[in-house]
Amino acid sequence: MAGMEKGTQIPPPLLSLLTSRYGELAALRAYTSRDLATIIADVGFHCDCCARCCTREFNGHVLLLDEDAMRIRACEPEALEPVPLLDFCDQHGTYYASGYTIRSRGDPEGSCHFLKDRRCRIYEKRPAVCRVYPYMLHQEPDEEGNVDWRQISGLDQHGTYHAPISEEEAVNHALETKAFEEAVLIHEIAYLEYTGQYFLEHGLRNVRKKYDDGLRLSREGVEIEVMVYFQGTFERWMIKAGTTLQKTIHGNEKR
Ligand code: SF4
Ligand code: SF4
Repeated sequence: MAGMEKGTQIPPPLLSLLTSRYGELAALRAYTSRDLATIIADVGFHCDCCARCCTREFNGHVLLLDEDAMRIRACEPEALEPVPLLDFCDQHGTYYASGYTIRSRGDPEGSCHFLKDRRCRIYEKRPAVCRVYPYMLHQEPDEEGNVDWRQISGLDQHGTYHAPISEEEAVNHALETKAFEEAVLIHEIAYLEYTGQYFLEHGLRNVRKKYDDGLRLSREGVEIEVMVYFQGTFERWMIKAGTTLQKTIHGNEKR
């Protein structure tokens, strides 16, 4: 896919998403880590180890880069499942997802599979997003719809503030955060380019009605096929609502 020209023949809505991701990546690269470090030092966030960030109730699912998923697969493969946000559905009812996340333990808070007694069981191997949290570098709309940068996730909803943070520490946090956000966008661009090419090669198109119908059937217990982007190809899963049954095929042979 590396030789694919930007946007060439990619079917909508992949094209608009891809264009948007390229724009986000350019904006991110133009944002200086020095500015982020200044904000980090000014805010002075301090973690009080409440562990709320390790629950879906507080934070949604854990976004994994391929390296994270590989590390987790090597130690506890059953902890992985496709991200819950399925992006597309083709005319045959097959869904497409950008990668993997960590299962929740199924408790009411949606605790991460690795959370035990409010501690991470894989702390030294925890995913990149868990390492940089709560720092982030996203452009998001506020309550009035004005799009601006957000640098601290859940500001004023967790932890304590105005702690002293050295310049060196703030710069390190800023560099790590920016590198992580860039890696996420590069992954999403690769996923969209690969999926676009895959759709072209297999004569596929995104069908909204199929998407809605399939999710309804899934909620009624019918398995759906999901192609998960991982390490430059697709892995095929069969899942039903809330339960990932099994990964059935490695590789990109669709049918
Ligand atoms: S991997 Fe560890 S740090 Fe990350 S969400 Fe799970 S328990 Fe929390
Ligand atoms: S980062 Fe925030 S939510 Fe997570 S454990 Fe620390 S204070 Fe709690």
